[in-house]
Amino acid sequence: MNFFQRYESECRRMDNLLKEATSELCPSCDVLFHEAEAMGCCGFCGDMNAYRDMGSSSWMSDETFLKLKIKYGWDERYGFLDLNTGCKIPRIYRADICLTFMCGELRKMLGPEKIRMLDKLTSRILFDRYSDPDNKMMKILDEEFV
Ligand code: SF4
Repeated sequence: MNFFQRYESECRRMDNLLKEATSELCPSCDVLFHEAEAMGCCGFCGDMNAYRDMGSSSWMSDETFLKLKIKYGWDERYGFLDLNTGCKIPRIYRADICLTFMCGELRKMLGPEKIRMLDKLTSRILFDRYSDPDNKMMKILDEEFV
């Protein structure tokens, strides 16, 4: 398994660990934005440029980020959030904060064992994104979006 395949597999494992809890919890989240139309912690996606404005996806080039917006249908108000189905972009492209943040309710629902596994996976993913001084990740994504 090469570097990028391992990275994709770590992101898929995160998806599997989270999907049951988030699909139950997030649609009924009572923290609402934009006049009660957008839910939860993704409600600021449009305002915060998918959290890129916070430096939370600096491992991706500006050019690739723009291509990502075109490919997955960026919305100026809701960003990558689809109000019915959740985030439109695969986890491999999501900002660091999208991967690491878990609200108290989600933590409670997941329980300590799953949280421990998720913490390990996020550490590995962040390591993949930032540990290489030549920024291998940026190069791979740039090539993918040519
Ligand atoms: S998880 Fe997706 S929809 Fe939510 S803030 Fe991140 S990029 Fe936006």
